[in-house]
Amino acid sequence: MAIYDPLGKFGLKNVTAAFSTRSDGNMSLSYGDTRDSLKNRKAFLDTLGIDHRSLVCARQVHGKNIEYITEERKGSGALDYDSSISDTDGFITDKKNIPLAILTADCLSIFLYDPARPAVAILHAGWRGTEKNIAAEGVKSMRERFGSSPEKLLVGFGPSIRSCCFEVEKDFKSNFPFGLVNRDGRIFMDITLINREQLKAGGVREENIFDPELCTFSQNRDFFSFRKEADSAGRIISVIMLK
Ligand SMILES: [Zn+2]
Repeated sequence: MAIYDPLGKFGLKNVTAAFSTRSDGNMSLSYGDTRDSLKNRKAFLDTLGIDHRSLVCARQVHGKNIEYITEERKGSGALDYDSSISDTDGFITDKKNIPLAILTADCLSIFLYDPARPAVAILHAGWRGTEKNIAAEGVKSMRERFGSSPEKLLVGFGPSIRSCCFEVEKDFKSNFPFGLVNRDGRIFMDITLINREQLKAGGVREENIFDPELCTFSQNRDFFSFRKEADSAGRIISVIMLK
């Protein structure tokens, strides 16, 4: 099993970051075929040295609310969807051994690491979260809560639907002044470019952002895509943990 580490290029010792692939199975307890999801999570997280019972999951709503997670909410959403943390699309923590998760099929997951505190964050950025600028919100949360310096933050992206495949309505133009690509009269959204620019506007350095450039739609054999599979789509998991 190949493990994708979005922060791998930074050679970090005290953080675990990874996202799963289709071959690891559906990781969602609420979307797609959920029969094996807990088993899939356990198998995937075991390989990372993460206890699946500690996982912190969200009831993601495509908003920009970000929650600070400490010991007492460890395990929220780990074993059943109902105990997931409501109305949130991002987590931050400076506590060790609390794995923070985001579940996606096309949306972008963003991993952030502050080596100084140290502290971590994970964000869920679909087009609606991107419109609300959750990337900048994540940087702001880390700055306010941990005193993080944006220019020191290390950032990794998960796989997402990309500008090769993410066709959007023409009226997206009013919401996104940049990051839209016009090809033969059709409009495509470059969600990773927009998030990259939002992070940079928040003070993150270009060279500290790593994008594995994986498209969930065109590489659908390896990832789940809601665009391609609709309600049958499972979810990959993006997880980050201080150790
Ligand atoms: Zn594509």
